[in-house]
Amino acid sequence: MVHFCQQCGSVTDRREIGGREREVCQRCGTVYYPQWKVSAGVRVVENGSLLLVQRGIDPWRGSWHMPAGYVEVDEEPRAAAEREALEETGLVVRAGRLVDCYADTSDPRGKVLILLYEASILDGALSPSAETPSVRFFSRDEIAGLPLAGMSARLEIEDWLNTEK
Ligand SMILES: [Zn+2]
Repeated sequence: MVHFCQQCGSVTDRREIGGREREVCQRCGTVYYPQWKVSAGVRVVENGSLLLVQRGIDPWRGSWHMPAGYVEVDEEPRAAAEREALEETGLVVRAGRLVDCYADTSDPRGKVLILLYEASILDGALSPSAETPSVRFFSRDEIAGLPLAGMSARLEIEDWLNTEK
């Protein structure tokens, strides 16, 4: 497949630079470095139960994960996490401490780093969205056996189960 330079629109080709093959513009010389996508999410716990959303679209349609989504380029990660929580669950949350950064290589849309924040509920009421047709809290016992949306969902939930012991 032919690729084009995002700076000048000319055709790029592949060249070895510093021991790795890179895409380089034939005209302006811009070098392209593939990078991770960045996503932000929230871990909301109430009365010992964890907030999860069910995916209504592929990949992982029907599987569950903590509310999360891609960080816009003009947005702070915490603000992105709060926005995604509101969009996906109807809850207004405040993102606090960073739980961890999860590296997910299982997503067919690209490798993703997920910044997961502890979050508390300020306002709102649980309500599903088009992309998350079901949203609810799960107790530790209820989570066992749930289909989970990829590597990060598995690791995030595993960590929560271990922390809460
Ligand atoms: Zn160029």
